[in-house]
Amino acid sequence: MKFQELKIIIIGAGLGGLCLAQGLKKNGILFEVFEQDPSHDTRGQGFRLRIDQEGQQALANCMPDHLYKLLTEHFAIKSGPVQTINSHLETINGKWVDEWQDSETADTPDLKIDRLHLREILLKGIQEQVHFGKRLLNYEQQINGQITCHFDDGSSECGHVVIGADGVHSRVREIRFPHADPIESGDICIYGKTVLDGNAKEQIAQKLQFATTVLFESELAVIIDAMRYPLFSDNAFSSSMFEMSPRQDYLYWAIIGKPGGFGLKKNSVIVNSSTELSAMIKHVSQTWDKPLQALFKCANSSSMKMVPIRYSAVQTEWEATQVTLLGDAIHTMSPASGVGANSALYDATILADIICDYSRQSGSITMAIAKYEQLMRAHSFAAMVNSRRGSTQLYGSESSESSHAEESYSSTDQ
Ligand SMILES: Cc1cc2nc3c(=O)[nH]c(=O)nc-3n(C[C@H](O)[C@H](O)[C@H](O)COP(=O)(O)OP(=O)(O)OC[C@H]3O[C@@H](n4cnc5c(N)ncnc54)[C@H](O)[C@@H]3O)c2cc1C
Repeated sequence: MKFQELKIIIIGAGLGGLCLAQGLKKNGILFEVFEQDPSHDTRGQGFRLRIDQEGQQALANCMPDHLYKLLTEHFAIKSGPVQTINSHLETINGKWVDEWQDSETADTPDLKIDRLHLREILLKGIQEQVHFGKRLLNYEQQINGQITCHFDDGSSECGHVVIGADGVHSRVREIRFPHADPIESGDICIYGKTVLDGNAKEQIAQKLQFATTVLFESELAVIIDAMRYPLFSDNAFSSSMFEMSPRQDYLYWAIIGKPGGFGLKKNSVIVNSSTELSAMIKHVSQTWDKPLQALFKCANSSSMKMVPIRYSAVQTEWEATQVTLLGDAIHTMSPASGVGANSALYDATILADIICDYSRQSGSITMAIAKYEQLMRAHSFAAMVNSRRGSTQLYGSESSESSHAEESYSSTDQ
């Protein structure tokens, strides 16, 4: 098959799906993206992301230069040193998560980027190929070798390759690997955002307002990251010029740990009402210093969310087909080390490169996918191990994530 004929269908316009779409566009490969949400900003999906060196390389490789420049020069904040404290705001030593790359420990420090900004920039130049309000229900192989995807609005689309970039609840994975649903570790994460308005600046401890901070407590940890944008260096520049959501200074925070750390029993129900979440955080932080409690008191209640920590069992091998997966859809992991999005971006860049190489050589697309899956498996296995180490270093999780990362099964389903 010549590359002009090859058409790729991407399910999911999250970080991995959009990065892949940019990489395909850069190389002149036909693609269409289908996203279940009605628009890119329909629901909150977390706030700041730490993008490490590998994630930065993936974005640079897939995006056109002007978009990568827009992202890094105006919407990314270089991470500074990380401070480690206790709940009385006292500095503590000897606690660290190996995966954190700050300006003290790495030549290329992580970049802090708001997820909404990243998605907005990744959508630029490909809006016509990204179709919102299309939830994949099913796909089927046709006699002519193509695959037809069916969506919940009754429409369908044919392509030569289908890529499931549809996240932790992936429908593509459900069909392709019916026994590979992610497992809940029992650990929990509550995250939110506190806008740095006058009141918040006055009440919240100064030491938290400019830095990256990790607070260690019994059975849980709190990650607090200041998203403070420098003033635009170019007076002529503003977010609106590039049709971007405005930049707003805020503190991102995430409380992550075992149920006991939140005063909950094992297997407690996940709640998402802001009143219940506020009450739970108030209970957890009742003995903490007031200027620390203020971080949660001043938080935007609609921004708070509780998620169970899930992870996938790593599969050792399977036979490649024209349907593959990337990112959380195939390797969900704990947010403890901040490697999930970076892994999705890594998958996207190697998949884009491999599809381009093989199709230009008129090779077999299934062989190309097999090569991608081999690299993706090796990379995600290492990322799962790092994520597990991050959980242990953060809150002493002995969760079965570790054993399951090493547990494996092979599958030739479908
Ligand atoms: C609190 C928190 C903080 C985090 N911080 C970091 C961090 O700092 N660094 C990091 O690397 N990672 C971080 N992560 C992990 C990161 O968010 C995920 O690993 C990453 O978003 C995965 O990207 P993805 O493209 O695979 O999936 P997603 O970004 O989840 O995208 C999947 C998309 O598919 C769509 N979809 C789902 N089903 C269908 C369907 N049937 N049909 C069509 N579309 C569908 C969804 O609506 C969604 O838009 C964090 C996670 C959390 C919860």
